[in-house]
Amino acid sequence: MAGLSTPKRKPKSAVGRSCTQRSGGNETVCLLPAPVVLYLPMKIVDILGKTGLVADAMGQAYEFRPQQMEMAEAVQKALRSKTHLVVEAGTGVGKSLAYLVPLILWARDENCRVVIATYTKALQQQIIKKDIPFLKTVLGDFRVALCVGGENYLCLRRFDQLRMGDLYEQAEIDPLNRLFQWSTHTRTGLRSELSFEPPWGLWGKACREADLCFGRECANYKDCFYQKGKLLEQQAQVLVANHHLFFADMATGGNVLPQHKAVVFDEAHQIEDVATDYLGIEVSNFSVRYLLDNLLSQRTRKGLLTRLKVQGGEVHVARDLVDDLRLTAENFFLNLHDALKQETVLRVRQPGIIPDILSVPLTKLKDALLALKVDTLEEEQEVKAFAGRAGGMASAIRQNLDQGQEGFVYWAERENKRYRLVASPIDIAETLREHLFGRLDTAVLTSATLSASGSFNYIKGRVGLDAPTDLLLDSPFDFENQALLYISPGLDDQQAAGYQERFDRELMAVLGITRGRTLVLFTSYGQLRKTRETLRSAMPKLGILCQGEMPAYRLIEQFKEQPNVVLLGTASFWQGIDIPGDALQCVVIAKLPFAVPDEPLIEARMERLKNPFYEYQVPQATLLFRQGFGRLIRTKTDKGAVVVLDTRIMTKNYGKSFLKSIPKCTITDDREEFRKFFDGLRS
Ligand code: SF4
Repeated sequence: MAGLSTPKRKPKSAVGRSCTQRSGGNETVCLLPAPVVLYLPMKIVDILGKTGLVADAMGQAYEFRPQQMEMAEAVQKALRSKTHLVVEAGTGVGKSLAYLVPLILWARDENCRVVIATYTKALQQQIIKKDIPFLKTVLGDFRVALCVGGENYLCLRRFDQLRMGDLYEQAEIDPLNRLFQWSTHTRTGLRSELSFEPPWGLWGKACREADLCFGRECANYKDCFYQKGKLLEQQAQVLVANHHLFFADMATGGNVLPQHKAVVFDEAHQIEDVATDYLGIEVSNFSVRYLLDNLLSQRTRKGLLTRLKVQGGEVHVARDLVDDLRLTAENFFLNLHDALKQETVLRVRQPGIIPDILSVPLTKLKDALLALKVDTLEEEQEVKAFAGRAGGMASAIRQNLDQGQEGFVYWAERENKRYRLVASPIDIAETLREHLFGRLDTAVLTSATLSASGSFNYIKGRVGLDAPTDLLLDSPFDFENQALLYISPGLDDQQAAGYQERFDRELMAVLGITRGRTLVLFTSYGQLRKTRETLRSAMPKLGILCQGEMPAYRLIEQFKEQPNVVLLGTASFWQGIDIPGDALQCVVIAKLPFAVPDEPLIEARMERLKNPFYEYQVPQATLLFRQGFGRLIRTKTDKGAVVVLDTRIMTKNYGKSFLKSIPKCTITDDREEFRKFFDGLRS
């Protein structure tokens, strides 16, 4: 085995090495607990090569993948040279091992921390449950922690307060009892370990919240689940997190994750949107209500204000303010409802869309809370936390209504009973350049889809990544033999009369050939609904599963189990579905997935560009199209067809960008050829 008979040698004296982390020119030492075991230097080729440790461990299942080696070497080089790296690695490259191996070796060698951040939970689970345990058997031990947001932990202090202070409602008694039973034996206190789903409101009253966490001053500190989780994170060399947590850390100046020197973003095509979310400013009727209910619940008339030991006149002032604020908030959001008219989303182009009747009373509430007489440290901290929230909300309202933030886009939105005012940064490149890429030694961005027409310029420009090394690796799958692309003719004018009927007819012709095992990806829920009704009445023998009718995981389970079923989905289904094998043989793309230009954020992004269609919409749609295309072939034995029911891919100039971006495969616009291909799959 290429110079390595064993991955580790006997423990030597514990030597702690430090790693330094630069932050705004200051160097802070990021010293991990000293390693107990020292490891011989290992080369990538000795691990991932044809005769390496992974090959040994996998036996028959091992397959040498040159792209995987190339990627691993590139990640290692980036870590050693403290540079950033962008890698597109097509399906089947085995990219998680390709970044995990060099990252783990490096973290162990340098005795410091690295972060792996995924977008989806599914990938995070694969890394935690499959890849890392496997690599421990190959590389020897290393310390890993799964990082989740604090709100996922049961807070013992708040839970006691909830139970003792009667802060629950009648309907919450049963789940509260179950939560209590669980709390007596759980070792982690993590919500994901519950065998039942507690009501959102109940968990909200029992979970850890950053500004209500007393840390070392908490009486429950020693037993605290969150603190134990944090300790594990501190001791770990490898942190597995998600994009949301990573950007929450960035947005709070590093208060969420332990210090780290390098990060790998898998599914990195998502980071612009997630980072934008965390850098925005919003306020909603739900968040205001949550604040007021915590102080004095509308239903139970209990809350912080009734719990305080000293119930003097100041408390009565605060209680009156809460009651008045409830009415004021209702009027404020009623005004927003009127301003929205019939729209669900409305870009707000001028300051003062509605009168600011809320920020002053919220500020008064903040002052009234700070004036309360408190008896204990706990009371003092809670009062300060809620005063901070009231002040923060007042400021968010003012910022949204005054529109004073340079480079932000403002909009109002409603979703069922929820009303929001949102301000989002239009371009986050500069912020990420400074606070992400300028702060860390190495950031690796990887995904199966990062390039458009063979170039990384779009993604690099969007996230502010200047001059990184980049690497474009093809999928090792044989697409020319495994896949067919059928482009249906006559569907290029979507505004023309009778388009929906023609679309449905063509889709039914396709489904008549595939007879199930087909995923249909839509760009709008409206079109999905119309087509669903047509299919259900015209093709009653075909099972039609539809996004929104049950949880996504159950839809996928049912789809896998029944061969004569069609699955209809929009947005998240373009990227979040992994169905290897024969269960999925056909992916239908209803339309080229251009972002809707009247979404405020997208519109504002496009306004900043000279040629927004070619600089933004085409590359963005190309990436999403490639994601949709990528649902089909998941293993080297998969076979199937992608059907595009949007003829613009052939007739328009920009269509070439889409076709150039997918792996080489047979393309036809002849339905008979498509039929024969399918007959071949069944024979
Ligand atoms: S330390 Fe924080 S999270 Fe833990 S029990 Fe206390 S308040 Fe809750």
